[in-house]
Amino acid sequence: MTGTGADPVVLARIRDEIRGHRRFVLSSHLRPDGDAIGSELALADALSALGKQVAIVNCDPAPPAVAWLPGAERIRLAAAVDEPFDVAIILECGELSRTGVSGLDRGLVINVDHHPGNTLYGDVNWHDGAAAACGEMVLDVIDALGVPLTAAMATAIYVAIVTDTGSFHFSGVSPKTFDICRRALEAGADPVNVARRVYDSNTVPRLRLWSAVLGTLDVEGSGRVAVIRLDREMAARAGASFDDTEGLINVPLTVPEIVAVAFFKEAEGGRLRVSLRSKGDIDVNAVAASFGGGGHKNASGFTVDGPVEAIRPALMARLTAALAAAGQATSP
Ligand code: 5GP
Repeated sequence: MTGTGADPVVLARIRDEIRGHRRFVLSSHLRPDGDAIGSELALADALSALGKQVAIVNCDPAPPAVAWLPGAERIRLAAAVDEPFDVAIILECGELSRTGVSGLDRGLVINVDHHPGNTLYGDVNWHDGAAAACGEMVLDVIDALGVPLTAAMATAIYVAIVTDTGSFHFSGVSPKTFDICRRALEAGADPVNVARRVYDSNTVPRLRLWSAVLGTLDVEGSGRVAVIRLDREMAARAGASFDDTEGLINVPLTVPEIVAVAFFKEAEGGRLRVSLRSKGDIDVNAVAASFGGGGHKNASGFTVDGPVEAIRPALMARLTAALAAAGQATSP
């Protein structure tokens, strides 16, 4: 089932599959973000409340900005599921292989996601491209199950929404988003604490890294497109890790004239991870997809081989075309 809004038929099927089974594994995408972790923790709590056996198995650790969430310690890091289970619920993940976890298809697979281009890989698929965060969909599942929202679940869902909307900066934010946030606050989520924990947790090495990366800033496309980069040496000199770049890509977008950002990160084995961000109608998901990646209209990424110089001209040409398609001129 794919579409917009809570679909009663698919929600009822998900509810019935959950009620009818006992052992669950939850997973999400590689390098999980706040929406992946928040969605998993909220649903895991709801399943536990129903007396189900639940494991959360991810390929990569939770980023520090959300690793403090209640229950995060129950997430197991593994490349394969070895425990017996009946149902795998994959959250916030467009393709099963993007979990980085093998064996999830040994049981019934339920796919709940909002990424455009979800491949509908599940036995049960609920894809809602209009949801601002997968956490919104998880609350619909929790409601369908009739599980009361606890403060821990509410906090996890609120974090999922705040992080995946870039603090309500990205498209997809709807009245429903705020309705869910209102419910989350009523159930005990503390927005001030979340903002502090998610956004105000800098370290000195992190600030040094941000300073070095922002020092590489190039502005192209008649001042509309920012390009920043990070190599391993810069991270080592700052005493920081690549995780410390979380959120950094949004800084150039605080300049009103800048409408798109490309962030090149040198990864293991000469690989290059490229993150893209944009404002409004500029579709960087399509740009990332043209390089074999994906994501959302305003936040996407891809990984390629080779140095920045080899990829940059083609990327700039496609970003310029994306700006033009959205009616944003790049020539004066
Ligand atoms: P980030 O730039 O923060 O790594 O990713 C931004 C968004 O793009 C996230 O929703 C992430 O899941 C998605 N994304 C990043 N890299 C890839 C990729 O290689 N393939 C796909 N399908 N999505 C990606």
